[in-house]
Amino acid sequence: MMRPMKAVILAVGSELLGVDRLDTNSLKLTRVLERYGVELVGKAVAGDDEAEIAAEIGRRLGQGLLVLVTGGLGPTADDCTRAAAARALGRGLTIDEAQVERMRAMFASFGRKMPEVNRRQAELIDGAELLHNPAGTAPGQLVEVPSGGALFLFPGVPRELEALIGLHLEPWLEKKLGKEGGIERGVIKVACLPESVLEERIAPAYDRFGRADISVLASPSEIRIQFFARGTAAERAARLQEMTSCLTELAGSAVFTDREETTLESAVVEALIAAGATLSTAESCTGGGIATRITSVAGSSAAFAGGAVTYSNEMKTLMVGVPPQLFAEVGAVSREVASAMAEGARQRFGTTYGIAVSGIAGPGGGSPEKPVGTVHLALAGPGDGDLAHRQVRFPGDRERIRRMTEQLALEMLRRSLLGLPLPGEAK
Ligand code: ATP
Ligand code: MG
Repeated sequence: MMRPMKAVILAVGSELLGVDRLDTNSLKLTRVLERYGVELVGKAVAGDDEAEIAAEIGRRLGQGLLVLVTGGLGPTADDCTRAAAARALGRGLTIDEAQVERMRAMFASFGRKMPEVNRRQAELIDGAELLHNPAGTAPGQLVEVPSGGALFLFPGVPRELEALIGLHLEPWLEKKLGKEGGIERGVIKVACLPESVLEERIAPAYDRFGRADISVLASPSEIRIQFFARGTAAERAARLQEMTSCLTELAGSAVFTDREETTLESAVVEALIAAGATLSTAESCTGGGIATRITSVAGSSAAFAGGAVTYSNEMKTLMVGVPPQLFAEVGAVSREVASAMAEGARQRFGTTYGIAVSGIAGPGGGSPEKPVGTVHLALAGPGDGDLAHRQVRFPGDRERIRRMTEQLALEMLRRSLLGLPLPGEAK
């Protein structure tokens, strides 16, 4: 195949035609195609249906395209991508005994015997190259059609797909096309800053780099600024670097990362570890959501001691020592209670910091003085009194209020740890 190379993606799996699963594998493949300057001209989803899959593969290979298929390489009868591809190519399928042995060894390493149905996963299209899969039992396959076009079969499990992309697709594209000519994407992520404020701040970057190359994607209390660069590998790297530092400077202290893989919670854990500090939580309206996010980060045990879900007033007293008279005096959703929860968690868990939230997530429970969305957040640390407190009123439904509360709690902590102005303060 020669330049310009064009590609299509076919995601196989009946679950992808239902109401609760979306094809995301194609996004991973698209990113790689972009990097090598391969134009994606179509995407399709097919159920586990041999005739449908064969028809789509046959039609697209007939157009001389690079066809990337994910899914349907499993061992069960509904996994029919191999057979469909063989049919589309007019070729046979032969079991690769060396692959069967590798699969047996893989099962043996988990102390299991390979079920006989798994032999099907070693069926290789005649003339195809087997693509080793270090992350699972289903190998991928590559067929380069002499009359033009090429076909890759990849497993559907996202983790396995990623492994095969790095091991097989990228080297193949690099061999065919070299490294030049594609586009590379960069990102910076921003927490707890209104979109309009961010837009105003980064406006100079639009003038400098062009509006078309920068896009802003907002979700509750988190915004991604995405941008891309074209040209040779060296040009792309230089321009991305320039865009990243310009946008980071303009957006200010709300930027928590310029790495795709970093989340707000992982940035917090990183900052805690760097400070040699530890954390505990006391959560009311988020029901453990902050602790869940912190513990989703691998290695968080170095910094996170634990948390209390103190939903009732009794538990706020019993678990983190909130003085019971406060509930009558100022109510559970108050600065005093949030602060007592934070300090109580900090002391009882023996940590450097304690963070606490108490609020009204709704839809019921609001009052004129404390409407739905009212939340108090408090951060306790070494020394007397709150390190930080925020009273906010978030808009939206229960889920959104809970999410925004988690974001603000994590962001207050991150900024305190890094000595940055707190959300809502100066840039
Ligand atoms: P494999 O080829 O790896 O055996 P499969 O299609 O046989 O894949 P499934 O059991 O159907 O395996 O899918 C494995 C998991 O991968 C499921 O959770 C499925 O939803 C997910 N998955 C499959 N295809 C996609 C896709 N295009 N995007 C996101 N997730 C996917
Ligand atoms: Mg499937």
